[in-house]
Order: sequence, then C-alpha cells, then structure tokens
Amino acid sequence: MKVKVIEGCISCGLCTEEYPDLFQMDDGGIARPVSNTVPQGREADAVQAAEDCPVDVIVTEE
Ligand code: SF4
Repeated sequence: MKVKVIEGCISCGLCTEEYPDLFQMDDGGIARPVSNTVPQGREADAVQAAEDCPVDVIVTEE
C-alpha cells in the first residue's frame, strides 16, 4: 500500500500524534509519510489516518 499527503494539510497534528511511526511533520510543519510505502501490517492504521484527517489530504492506494 502507498500513502501520501496531498496539498492542504492544516498541521492539526492528528496523524503525527496518533501514528508517529507513519507520519512526521516536515520542517514547514506539514505532515509527511515516514515512508511512501506503508510498512507491512500497518495498512489499517494508514487507512484510519486517512479517514480521520479533517481535511482529507491523506491518500492511500493499493
Ligand atoms: S491529520 Fe491531516 S491535516 Fe492533520 S496533520 Fe495529518 S495530514 Fe495534516
């Protein structure tokens, strides 16, 4: 599974606090995936993060 953060992150911190191994803030305070490929076994959390993002900028794809 791939994951990315598209334009529009409002830096709410939800994904980086809930899943710090999957998302980290970059130097500009914008969330970025730690890896563009979701680690094995973490797919459900990546999908949950995408669902929870208030502005729907986390995108997952198989
Ligand atoms: S949950 Fe969405 S808006 Fe909040 S930091 Fe993560 S990507 Fe940005």
